[in-house]
Amino acid sequence: MTFKELNISEPILQALKEKKYENPTPIQEKAIPVALKNRDIIGIAQTGTGKTAAFAIPIIQLLTEEATDNKHNIKALILTPTRELAIQIDECFSDYAKHTSLRHTVIFGGVNQNPQVRQIKQGTDILIATPGRLLDLINQGFIHLNNIKHFILDEADRMLDMGFIHDIKRILPLLPKERHTMLFSATMPSSIAELSRKMLNKPTRVEVAPASSVVDTIKQSLFMIEKPEKSKLLLDLLQQEGIKSTLVFSRTKHGADKIAKILNKNGIQCDAIHGNKSQNARQGALEKFKNKQIKALVATDIAARGIDIDELSHVINFEMPNIPETYVHRIGRTGRAGHEGKAISFCDAEERAYLKDIEKLIDKSIPVVKDHPY
Ligand code: AMP
Repeated sequence: MTFKELNISEPILQALKEKKYENPTPIQEKAIPVALKNRDIIGIAQTGTGKTAAFAIPIIQLLTEEATDNKHNIKALILTPTRELAIQIDECFSDYAKHTSLRHTVIFGGVNQNPQVRQIKQGTDILIATPGRLLDLINQGFIHLNNIKHFILDEADRMLDMGFIHDIKRILPLLPKERHTMLFSATMPSSIAELSRKMLNKPTRVEVAPASSVVDTIKQSLFMIEKPEKSKLLLDLLQQEGIKSTLVFSRTKHGADKIAKILNKNGIQCDAIHGNKSQNARQGALEKFKNKQIKALVATDIAARGIDIDELSHVINFEMPNIPETYVHRIGRTGRAGHEGKAISFCDAEERAYLKDIEKLIDKSIPVVKDHPY
């Protein structure tokens, strides 16, 4: 299947060519034709599947077809839980809509609102927002949602996890009843099913890769090691050649800080990101990691979810996750888009039960590295 066969218009095809996307991903193949018919979608897909383009491409195409008056009022709204995701989605719109005259703006909290308000006043067709800042600017009269034709709720499960349900309930009645809606979520707990019944009109369900599947471009390995030795092993591995950009997972915020401190002390520049860090600190760390100024980023699961980094060479599980699906999510951060990736896990005696659950879920045993000094 090619993007052309999905009936995507020339300006977008050109942009995708420049991004070097050769073929649509499975979620794109399934969602784009449905969305182009203005039909509602409930999409079950996690970050890394190409879900952003799956909704961004049809929105750009529909808006360019619909926007005949050249009025830049807000016609599409994308709600997403975090600032990092909002920025990433905005970057996607910059890429895919670059050969169109559509304007897009991103707003999120934790920063001065004035530059965002200025941009909205200049006119925008597409608005990407986190819920709190959106409500703020609506209440101040800077944003009106009455012209919205397309509404996307991204990472719906995480929105609910983060306690945004009340904000969403306040935003929904402000949207026109007649609209095109798409909801994306990595999981489908009953709370999301209920929300989608309220929000969507006869939705088509599109679903990809359940969380138990691990892509075969990821090479997995396992070190059986005692807890006190883990830092030494991590240092050894990071000092080895070939380990370029590594995401290290820690189960706790405190643990993440501790690991980052040890690495920095030993000359490996790195940062930690987790929920206790300010948005600015998190964004700064992410930028440095993306620009390769730092080689490693230590993160907790919540902080890392949704972060999209191309060419992540390694994922290291400093601690085994206690939920087996989390293992699949974590290691799925590497080996993206056909690149080779390596996932290395450190398992101590107390974590063997977690390992057993993980191996049961992925239905194979992770190769053990026997030859190591610890
Ligand atoms: P997402 O799941 O939207 O976070 O996308 C994950 C990554 O896949 C991003 O870095 C995208 O730029 C990339 N991507 C999305 N669609 C394609 C495609 N059709 N071909 C290659 N890469 C893609």
